[in-house]
Amino acid sequence: MKIGLFGGTFDPVHRCHLAVATQVRDQLQLDLVLLIPSGDPPHKPPGSLAPALHRLAMVRLAIAGEPSLEVSELEIQRPAKSYSIETVRTLKAQYGPASELFFLIGLDAFLDLHTWKDAPSLLSLCHFVVVSRPSCRFAALTSLPVLPPLDQAALARIDSQGQNRLDISLPGGTSLTLLALPPCDASATDIRRRLRARLPVSNLLPDSVESYIIRHRLYQEASDRTGVEG
Ligand code: ATP
Repeated sequence: MKIGLFGGTFDPVHRCHLAVATQVRDQLQLDLVLLIPSGDPPHKPPGSLAPALHRLAMVRLAIAGEPSLEVSELEIQRPAKSYSIETVRTLKAQYGPASELFFLIGLDAFLDLHTWKDAPSLLSLCHFVVVSRPSCRFAALTSLPVLPPLDQAALARIDSQGQNRLDISLPGGTSLTLLALPPCDASATDIRRRLRARLPVSNLLPDSVESYIIRHRLYQEASDRTGVEG
């Protein structure tokens, strides 16, 4: 089994998250992609993130009917903050040695990798698939201290769309795949801002997720939020 792990706050999940999950699934011929919403931060300032159960419910709605996409409650069910290294170790034990894990991540988030707990071990534990994100350049990866030296000309080609995929071997026997996907502009921050300003979001979210947000009055004032329903 080739399994993609796609973590995020998903606050809310949007159409670019789905585009990343389905396009990586298809291009790397993954059997399954698990979307893994993060848990509630242990000491979060009120209103900083929609409650995990709402974010989970929206991911469930967004992937309904999508073959080979599933949601994992692993991080939501942990009482403390989850580090990616712990999530990957748990899933590796759960799926066993016959499965290969692929960590899916946007380039913006991957550029922070050196600040993550045990980043070098994480890179040797599973494959990484880093997808393009508008306004980020793969060339910036050369400044990431946890990566081996990278071919700058190849990074420039992928940034200028002269090439859409680059596979790099990592010291631990895993691989780093850089994938230029068709640009997808949605961001959760922008969607929350649009919702607060009562601007349309229909082309940015699946209809079912938009209806859920309206029904639960999410992303207005924190105090307006309603409880989670089925
Ligand atoms: P925010 O705008 O608040 O930062 P987000 O839209 O990035 O949120 P996250 O839940 O933080 O949403 O993202 C989960 C993962 O999806 C991250 O790896 C992120 O890089 C990736 N991702 C999100 N939006 C895009 C996009 N438009 N194109 C490519 N990758 C994306």
